[in-house]
Amino acid sequence: MEKIEHIGIAVKNLEESNTLFAALFGKAHYKIEEVKSEGVKTSFFDVGSNKIELLEATNPESPIAKFIEKKGEGIHHIAFAVSNIKAEIARLKAEGFTVLNEEPKFGADNKLVAFLHPKTTNGVLIELCQERS
Ligand code: ZN
Repeated sequence: MEKIEHIGIAVKNLEESNTLFAALFGKAHYKIEEVKSEGVKTSFFDVGSNKIELLEATNPESPIAKFIEKKGEGIHHIAFAVSNIKAEIARLKAEGFTVLNEEPKFGADNKLVAFLHPKTTNGVLIELCQERS
């Protein structure tokens, strides 16, 4: 696993949070992207060598809607960059982690992604992401 690629934050209202985080970072988001398959609309901020991803639910069944219902707004996941996501999934499975999607799927920001179940990672939802070539 390489560096932290981004930290995902669940928000209720992406537009309001874009304004808030732009004031916090002193610069605006560089992209907004909807991931229909996940029921989310995201925005990305470049903060030094890391990024912050804001996630808003686009429907009530979205994992983000359920997260906010249970826990409120806040940090939703930490994403780590990997160079070979399939090899990393196999390695982590062998280590006993529960991988939520064993087949990498298309995520936001031109990435292939997979998630580890928080029950096997001390309550932290971990995302693996590999840049799509
Ligand atoms: Zn993410």
